[in-house]
Parts: sequence; C-alpha cells; structure tokens
Amino acid sequence: MTIPAAPNDSIARAGLVYPHGTHVPGDGRLLQVAEGVFWLRMPIPFSLDHINLWVLDAGDHWAVVDTGFPSAEAKAHWRALFDAESGGPLAGKPVGRVIVTHYHPDHIGLAGWLCTRWQLPLEISRGEFMLARVLTLDTAASTPEDVIGFYAAQGWPDDAVEALRASAWGRFGRIVHRLPTGYHRLRAGDRLTIGRRQWDIVVGAGHSPEHVCLHDAADGLLISGDQVLPRITSNVSVYPTEPEADPLGDWLDSIARLKSLPAETLVLPAHNEPFFGLHARLDQLAADHHRKLEALLEACGEPLSAFDSFAILFRRAIGRDELQMATGEALAHLRWLHRRGQVEPISCDGVTRYRRLG
Ligand SMILES: [Zn+2]
Repeated sequence: MTIPAAPNDSIARAGLVYPHGTHVPGDGRLLQVAEGVFWLRMPIPFSLDHINLWVLDAGDHWAVVDTGFPSAEAKAHWRALFDAESGGPLAGKPVGRVIVTHYHPDHIGLAGWLCTRWQLPLEISRGEFMLARVLTLDTAASTPEDVIGFYAAQGWPDDAVEALRASAWGRFGRIVHRLPTGYHRLRAGDRLTIGRRQWDIVVGAGHSPEHVCLHDAADGLLISGDQVLPRITSNVSVYPTEPEADPLGDWLDSIARLKSLPAETLVLPAHNEPFFGLHARLDQLAADHHRKLEALLEACGEPLSAFDSFAILFRRAIGRDELQMATGEALAHLRWLHRRGQVEPISCDGVTRYRRLG
C-alpha cells in the first residue's frame, strides 16, 4: 500500500509557515512529509488529544521515533499498520529501530511493547531512560511524605494538600508498558544512519532531563519531540524528584543552542503540525518566559509563594488536576530568578515565599 503525501497547502500563521496547512493524518494513519519520512498520528485520551510519531524508511526495515500513549486504542492502530491481510501500510518489512525522544508517557508509553514485539533494544538518552525506569519502579502505596512536603511548601491550601495525601501514587508505572531492562544509549553528537538519511542527535533540556531531537542537516529536517512545538508552550517544571533544579535555565540554554540549527529547517514536532520558522518560534518561546519573569519579579515586591504566583503567570483559573503542573511551572520561574540573585526565598510556617532583592 502506498502512503499518501501530505498535501501542499501552505498557510502562514503567527510568524510560522505550515507547509501542509491544517491537513493532518487521521488517528493511526500516515502521511509522507519528505522522502521516506512519514507522519503518524496517534490518539491521547486528554484535552491535548493527539501525538505525532515519525516512521522512517530504513530500506529493509522501519525506524520508529516515539511510540504513543499506552492505550488499547493506540495498540490497535499499531497492529492495523503492521497487518498484511488488511493492507496495513507498514506490513512487508519489520520495525528495526525504536527511538524515543523523552520519558513522558505519550512518547515512551508503548516503547516496551514495540521493543518486545520486534525484539529490539530501546534507543534513548541515559537521562530519559533512567528517570523512566525510576518512575516505573516507584511502588509506594500512597503519596510519600516528602512529595506532600514539597507541594505544601509551595503554598498549597490545606484541602489541596489533603487531597494529594489521599490520591493514588505510582501512576506512571501503572500506565506505561514495562520498559526493557537495558537500553541503547543516544548521546548529543551521535549520528544515526537510517536509510539514505543521516540524523544527528541534538539534546535539549528543561521539559525533560535529556530530550533527544533528530536533525537531518542535508535536507533540513528536525524531529523535535516536545523540545520545539509551534503553538503549545512545553511544560517546564520543578518536580519533587529534583526540588533544587533550575529547568527554566536549562530550557532557555537549550533554546539558545537550538538556534545554531539553520533557520530554514522543517520542524516535525510531537504536537500540532510540521512548520517552518524554527528561529522565530524559539524567539517567541524565550520572549514569553522573559515576559513572565519580568511580571513575576515586579510582583515579588510582596513575597510570593509558587501558589500565589498563579494569578501573575496564568491568565485563567487552575483546576485541581492541573495543580502539580502549574506549581512546578511557577516554581521554575521563581527558581530562575533566585539562581540569578533577583529574589530571595523566605521560609515561614513551612511555606517558601520569594522576595525581590535590590
Ligand atoms: Zn513531553
């Protein structure tokens, strides 16, 4: 079965150019975006309802970049793609490589399942693999006290702390398919030969510890994962697993590094659609964080906890289910200001607030 090409229907929007306009593959379907590079959509059961995976023609096999959220629906789509009898477009040759950009469940969720089915190693960076393995092995029966203490210190109201205490723990390990015990390590600067293409591994950080992107310099393609998205701002958060981290510093450093890639690169992101305008998008992302940092610094004339700063950072109410992510994001901004000597933390009654210096 031949896989259709994505239609050329270019539109410009907010400083970016989308060469295929609003055309997207249906769930479990493929569109070709460059010779031997196929865009595969898979469903995610959340408000962000899809992920883009990338299937690369490697001659006698397929290489898969990211694997989808671990749902029965996504598995059924994979099975149909491989099924020769029903004319599955990937039937006829095996999967020969499974590459994962980072540890989030929509990316790594079915990696173990695909690696087992095709008897393959998982190719991923060390930082992402180790964090994923640690999270899957965390079998605490209830929310650990250090996690509760971490969020309480960010100024959470008592009822939110109690709800966290009562909530189930270890969700990552319950939903993500069991990962292989070992992995094949990808490092910044590695070059992968896949079919006729050479892909250089470019590593970013801030959204996750050691996020892999794949860059084909000859044809100007970047499989960017969640490191560069055209319309969504990737979550940049401090988590209880590394409470002293400065992920926004890592994120802004990564943006500066990614700007060394050519401006005319076609970006193949994990969410939304392929686009041109890599530098414009990196500039937008950096400017958005700097605007938030300025507003936050201004507000820290009165000491603020991470929870207090929601009103400054987010222009909408934060629901209970978004509380951890919003807190992590707020703390990432306060931490950035703290590390650069612009605010100081003051702890009082178990809550940390940040006050502007100078
Ligand atoms: Zn992610």
